[in-house]
Amino acid sequence: MNFHVLTLFPEMIEQGLNTSILGRAMAAGYISLTATNIRDYAAPERKGRVDDYPYGGGAGMVMQPEPIDRAYEAVTASMEKEPRVIYVTPQGKVFNQSMARELAQEENLVFLCGHYEGVDERILDKIVTDHVSIGDYVLTGGELPAMVMIDAISRMVPGVLTNDASGEIESFYDGLLEYPQYTRPVEYDGRRVPDILLSGHHVNVEKWRREQSLIRTRERRPDLIPTATLTEEDQKFLRK
Ligand code: SAM
Repeated sequence: MNFHVLTLFPEMIEQGLNTSILGRAMAAGYISLTATNIRDYAAPERKGRVDDYPYGGGAGMVMQPEPIDRAYEAVTASMEKEPRVIYVTPQGKVFNQSMARELAQEENLVFLCGHYEGVDERILDKIVTDHVSIGDYVLTGGELPAMVMIDAISRMVPGVLTNDASGEIESFYDGLLEYPQYTRPVEYDGRRVPDILLSGHHVNVEKWRREQSLIRTRERRPDLIPTATLTEEDQKFLRK
């Protein structure tokens, strides 16, 4: 899986993502990341400037279409087929785990990060395939949203998590939140690890975890319950 980010702040993307699990996944070749500076594609007479005043007036600046177009052409020139191009924008569909799983199937993904008031609509019409938001709030730029999405998508790429199963038992995998986790010591500040987790009885541990997932989801995210994958036993438990 190859991630390509079109941005005004490539160092933010490179430094932010090339550490820990994703840094190791890049070193091992499971994923690759290139951050392309849109300023490098500014018209020569504009000396690195890529924004201008909005037609019709109003506050702020708008990113011009031509530098983005040239950066996009350079990044995609060697690709065999046109990639999906995600414009990160508060006006997009809200990102979630199933989108991460679906996007992880692609060979190449291009992210376009806006800044200032946003991007000239004509380049969006021309190259963007998906408009995606990370939530209903407005950030100063698209770099953090792109990083959030790249992190979540990368975890779905085989080999990135050392234990592949760990992505399958996490929150949202089956539409529920994950059960509570504990590690050593057995007793901390007067609070004990639940006895069931020390019992060594795997079937009972699994049952307890499932019930905790159900309880937690019902308490914290009841909106997830109607679309979660539930067994008859789960449904019976929730009716109690
Ligand atoms: N004027 C735009 C609007 O009202 O929709 C907001 C522009 S915002 C200040 C600058 C850039 O940050 C956007 O072009 C987008 O790339 C990014 N951005 C801001 N909030 C975002 C969010 N919630 N999800 C994804 N991208 C976001």
